[in-house]
Amino acid sequence: MTRTVLKFGGTSVASPAALQRVAEIVKNTRGHRIVVVSATAGTTDALIGAARAAEGGDAQTAQDTIHRLSGEHRNLIADALGFESADVLKEIADLTEESADVLKEIADLTERTTALLQSVAILRECTARTLDAIVSYGERISAPIVAAVLNHTGTKAEALSAEGLLITDDAFGHANPIVDETRTRVAKEIDSRLGYGVVPVVTGFIGSTAEGVTTTLGRGGSDYSAAVLAAATKANELRIYTDVSGVMSADPRVVKGAKPLDSMSYAEAAELSYFGAKVIHPRTVLPAVEAGIPVRILNTFAPSDRGTTITSNTDKDGSVVKATTSLGGLGMITVQGAGMSGVPGFAARVFDTAAAERVSVMMISQSSSENSICLVVPDDATDRLKGALEKMFNAELQRHDVEKIDVERPVAIVAAVGEGMRGTPGVAARVFTALGKASVNVVAIAQGSSELNISLVVLEKDREKAVRLIHEEFHR
Ligand code: ADP
Ligand code: ASP
Ligand code: MG
Repeated sequence: MTRTVLKFGGTSVASPAALQRVAEIVKNTRGHRIVVVSATAGTTDALIGAARAAEGGDAQTAQDTIHRLSGEHRNLIADALGFESADVLKEIADLTEESADVLKEIADLTERTTALLQSVAILRECTARTLDAIVSYGERISAPIVAAVLNHTGTKAEALSAEGLLITDDAFGHANPIVDETRTRVAKEIDSRLGYGVVPVVTGFIGSTAEGVTTTLGRGGSDYSAAVLAAATKANELRIYTDVSGVMSADPRVVKGAKPLDSMSYAEAAELSYFGAKVIHPRTVLPAVEAGIPVRILNTFAPSDRGTTITSNTDKDGSVVKATTSLGGLGMITVQGAGMSGVPGFAARVFDTAAAERVSVMMISQSSSENSICLVVPDDATDRLKGALEKMFNAELQRHDVEKIDVERPVAIVAAVGEGMRGTPGVAARVFTALGKASVNVVAIAQGSSELNISLVVLEKDREKAVRLIHEEFHR
């Protein structure tokens, strides 16, 4: 029997109308179905805010947030099941088994998270491990809601927490799934349910260590969870349902004329998401590629729209640049000096310093004369890395082999992506001309060795304009 993993994002589970759509989509999907859900839109942000407030000693704000979230979710399930309010629902809870279970689940999880936040407020400390436990609340309350709506509409379903199922290492906040271990657990927990005709509704975003400590896969990580589960269950297809009709030629919030793309290669999707196209988490693609599973991005609110299919074929549709994207909130550090050229191991020392500081480098660019190296890093790490580099190159700075270590911020990376760029001359020139005509200054440039993308660093203030200009140049 075919097996499909269907992942629903935050807006797809945030309203009674959306939940109805979800129920219809699941019902209309043939074969074995495994559903993966995000927290409702805005919930993860609110939970992080609550944790930060508690860490700052503001226990009240933290409690208020949990109280609000719990109320909203109780109302959501009441509305979705067609009751007037959660209170009415409670009174008649014994009439509908599924609603009683969900309300109990919400109450238990709320109590637990409240206690966690209280501890944070007392200790005035929130470790990455504690934060993961707190934010897991979002997915852990959305999964039972979705399962209840499915049951209510005639699809047998059961909510499952990915804790103990999706096994990861202990890199809290950005944990790495351990696929073999996950496969063993999945075979036990998911296969049996599928065998009984039950649709498992699994929490996205979260997992646990083999010992059972809650972890998360990083922001936007439910897509990644879905891909890992698709690989672990040997699914025939992974469908990511969101609030737009597929991957588009640019972020539709930035470029009005952005169009959905019918298809793209795994490589293109990976580049696009890496450089900020939020529609798919950057790490989603790999487990799917490795297992040869096609990924489709579809719209919950327009499920018959074609969406975008991501496959292993290098998909040449005649376009040069398929999509343009951008990533903000970055800083650029330039290490510059005539004494750097031809010195072996210089670049390695720069990167070792970044690695030692645990700063992830988003982009590197080196001038051909070798007398400058630029690193683009998250803005909040810029000062720390600059300080570390000054220490590392203290002797060279004294001797003026390194003249200076400069910082430019805030900056953004704008990337034009497409397989069609490979071997097509003049793409970079067209990008520069388009930007130059509109007086957008390009601070640095890098071309991936795959020739699949050209990425530019611009000042944050020019970010959206640059995306629009490049989009206009290639998608007229
Ligand atoms: P979900 O909660 O379903 O995971 P996200 O908000 O994470 O949804 O991602 C969907 C959003 O990504 C869209 O609403 C859109 O604004 C944004 N986005 C950014 N770049 C693109 C792009 N190139 N194509 C489509 N959507 C994009
Ligand atoms: N709820 C998580 C987040 O907001 C994961 C996700 O939605 O994919 O980051
Ligand atoms: Mg997302």
